[in-house]
Amino acid sequence: MTSLPFAAAQPQAGIPAARHAERLARARALAAEQGLDALLVGVGADLRYLAGYDALALERLTLLVVPVAGRPTLLAPRLEAAATAVAPAIASGEVHLETWEETDDPLLRVRDLLGDRAGRLAVSDRLAAHFLLGLQALMPDASWSLASAVVGRLRIVKDADEVALLERAAHAADQVIHEVVNGRLVGRTEADVAREIRDRLIAWGHDRADFAIVGSGPNSASPHHAASDRVIRPGEPIVLDIGGPMRGYGSDITRTVWVTGGDPTHGPDRGFLRLYGVLRGAQAEATHAVRPGVAAERIDLVARELISAAGYGQHFIHRTGHGIGLEEHEPPYIVAGNVEPIRPGMAFSVEPGIYLEGRYGARIEDIVVCAEDGPMVLNEASRDLLVVTG
Ligand code: ZN
Ligand code: ZN
Ligand code: ZN
Repeated sequence: MTSLPFAAAQPQAGIPAARHAERLARARALAAEQGLDALLVGVGADLRYLAGYDALALERLTLLVVPVAGRPTLLAPRLEAAATAVAPAIASGEVHLETWEETDDPLLRVRDLLGDRAGRLAVSDRLAAHFLLGLQALMPDASWSLASAVVGRLRIVKDADEVALLERAAHAADQVIHEVVNGRLVGRTEADVAREIRDRLIAWGHDRADFAIVGSGPNSASPHHAASDRVIRPGEPIVLDIGGPMRGYGSDITRTVWVTGGDPTHGPDRGFLRLYGVLRGAQAEATHAVRPGVAAERIDLVARELISAAGYGQHFIHRTGHGIGLEEHEPPYIVAGNVEPIRPGMAFSVEPGIYLEGRYGARIEDIVVCAEDGPMVLNEASRDLLVVTG
């Protein structure tokens, strides 16, 4: 790795500690509006969002209990106390920390914490079934719903700090694409290129590399193809779809590159150029359709109509995009049937693709934030078909 990581040159921006107090207050207000008594938030993105705690998913219970009236409490195993204490909402005292011992039954502690507030309870979507079933057995009179009706409503609109983190992650992923397509590709296996991508994502500041799709030749026609032992040859396209979290917020970019191996007779054929031109136009128009008030499904329709009009409708086999934030895939989903109006601060991918099974395919993906006056595209890597020597 020769280049200097972009992340190292930047101040360590993040989510200000005070933001968690605001989020907790808003979550409680929204929960009260919905007639809930408490939120029970297990390990996952909701917990990180509300308390700033990026907890390990263990067999031991870690649970944030947020009563509508009263102070939130994080119940955590004693051995996690040190890790927990540095979480912003714990360090600031906004959330009270209670630890349980190895011989305690943490579910009983939850029931005790709730007391007579064990009425209408909302649990985070990712709370493991064994915890939920245990809690339900202990509180048979309580009613249960999903806390995403509350926390999801907050998380779907990103604040300026979150957008800044998404943008930094996007730029880091842009750099990795740039480096990989300008390096050697022909003669290497997809798996080898995927390993390089993962290393570079981390070198550019990612917490980890969650995916590195390298689909070459016929594999480019399989949207979620995992990198295989197939050797990349001259005269074929490669779909690169890469990303992972950086300071918790995800990157996700797809670019399609054509490798010639240095032989001009191995350039893209006319069929591929046509396919790519249609896709490029559809991705641009769908991005252009992003503005406050537009239904999520409308953005999908814009891409789909252009691709269908060119005769590739049956080869665009997935939704146009997904929200992104603390999770790689989260609401809003850019898909037919989702009439939710897009609002300023929503962040999602715009990623149409055309796949000719057994032959080849292409996809272009950017992360787009809806701004007050239209789309703000976070990725900067060129969307033109990249024809490289490879
Ligand atoms: Zn995907
Ligand atoms: Zn992707
Ligand atoms: Zn995506």
